[in-house]
Amino acid sequence: MSKQAIWSIIMIMTLSLIGVGVIQYFWIKRAVDLDEKNFDDKVTIALNNVKKRLITDAEEAADKKYYEQKSILEPKNMLASIIKDDLSSKSEQLSKRIKELEFRSSFLDPNQLLENINIAILDKYLRMELESKDIDLDYEYGIYSNKDKAYIIENGNYAAIIGDTTKSSNVAAMNPLYKAEYKISLFADDMLDPGHLNLYFPGKKRFLWSNVIGILLSSVVFTGLILFCFSYTVYVIFHQKKVSEMKTDFINNMTHEFKTPIATISLASDSILSPTIIENKDKVIRFINIIKQENKRMLSQVEKVLQMAQIEKENVELKFNPINLHDLIVDAVVNAELKVLTKGGTIVTNLNAQKPVIEGDVTHISSIINNLLDNAEKYTPEKPEIVISTKDVKGGVEFSVTDNGIGISKDALKNIFEKFYRVHTGNLHDVKGFGLGLSYVKAMVDAHHGKIQVKSEPGKGSTFTILLPEKQKTK
Ligand code: ADP
Repeated sequence: MSKQAIWSIIMIMTLSLIGVGVIQYFWIKRAVDLDEKNFDDKVTIALNNVKKRLITDAEEAADKKYYEQKSILEPKNMLASIIKDDLSSKSEQLSKRIKELEFRSSFLDPNQLLENINIAILDKYLRMELESKDIDLDYEYGIYSNKDKAYIIENGNYAAIIGDTTKSSNVAAMNPLYKAEYKISLFADDMLDPGHLNLYFPGKKRFLWSNVIGILLSSVVFTGLILFCFSYTVYVIFHQKKVSEMKTDFINNMTHEFKTPIATISLASDSILSPTIIENKDKVIRFINIIKQENKRMLSQVEKVLQMAQIEKENVELKFNPINLHDLIVDAVVNAELKVLTKGGTIVTNLNAQKPVIEGDVTHISSIINNLLDNAEKYTPEKPEIVISTKDVKGGVEFSVTDNGIGISKDALKNIFEKFYRVHTGNLHDVKGFGLGLSYVKAMVDAHHGKIQVKSEPGKGSTFTILLPEKQKTK
């Protein structure tokens, strides 16, 4: 898959995820808005019912008062009254009716009615009406008087109006009820609007969102899961792409590495076969030695690849025996010294460990040391100064290989133990390798329950430190 195709898929997927997120947000917001509208309608109906109840009560009270007063003012003698009525003209009757109404309405003065609201009854009506609409949220309410320009009732208490209402805490704008969403005029007539009832629910927003929180959370969780799976898939795609590139590099490298010995062997055999040489025993022996050497080189390459395949299958069988690390180091130094000396360098050994004997597989521990020394030499283009030292640590021995080579950048350090990984050195250093050495070292250190650490500075050199336990855990 080309890089462009991968990026296009990432773009499409990202846009789709953003699209799904935005749509979900709008759906949920719509649901909350609908719930809110529904809630508002219910509260408005409840407030209207409270208003109606208060008016009915006021009218009933006015009627009662009117009849009480009337019975006092009007003649008690029913008979006299009937006679009087009979005698009255129709216009007199009408003016009397008007007077009656005026008299009755004097009990229905809007300002008076507002001031006379009974707190207990108002409280009861509000609670009853809200409950009947299935609203059981905490609420705050107040009765605002236009005449006093202040709240005269607040949450079931009469509010004290002290002095100038514009200066005291009665200033309406400072009262939280001022911002109340629900407001209904009480006892208003054509001429006068005495005041209104304000109601608000401090926990309304929370209540409305709590209805959709389940959907919201599950959609966040599922979107998160999709995002995680998508990121993981992208990571795997890129990783596989890198691995496949590294494998291609490896095949190219290997072909290249085998081509040289094969060509040399072919050349040497041709030379032996030539009539002038086949007679010369010394020359034949020289060519045969070259063939043998090249053969050995190819064998060691093949072994490296095979070792790696073995590790991959995770079926390496280690033969743990007590081994002296110092002996193995000395042997490895002898092998590597020739190449280092040819470059004009040195190998210094500081074998300070008092207990250099550990439990391990001799072949693999030797390979680990050889690999590290080999790399220290390979990646130090001029005059390698290699130091190999050991010291006792708690529970085992630690040994390190330090060089003054090209070093490894921070970015590359993260990958050097990956299979087939090689730092791209450009055309500067044409160092041969398969990118398998360090992954093998790491796999073997792990198999010995040890630890490996690298410290490196580009241009200055690197130090590989390995800790190997004294004893291996018995199964
Ligand atoms: P290779 O066959 O390429 O040497 P390794 O697995 O041994 O493979 O090493 C992986 C990479 O780590 C190398 O390509 C090299 O760039 C870097 N590296 C390893 N050892 C050293 C070192 N001592 N100094 C600098 N770079 C190193």
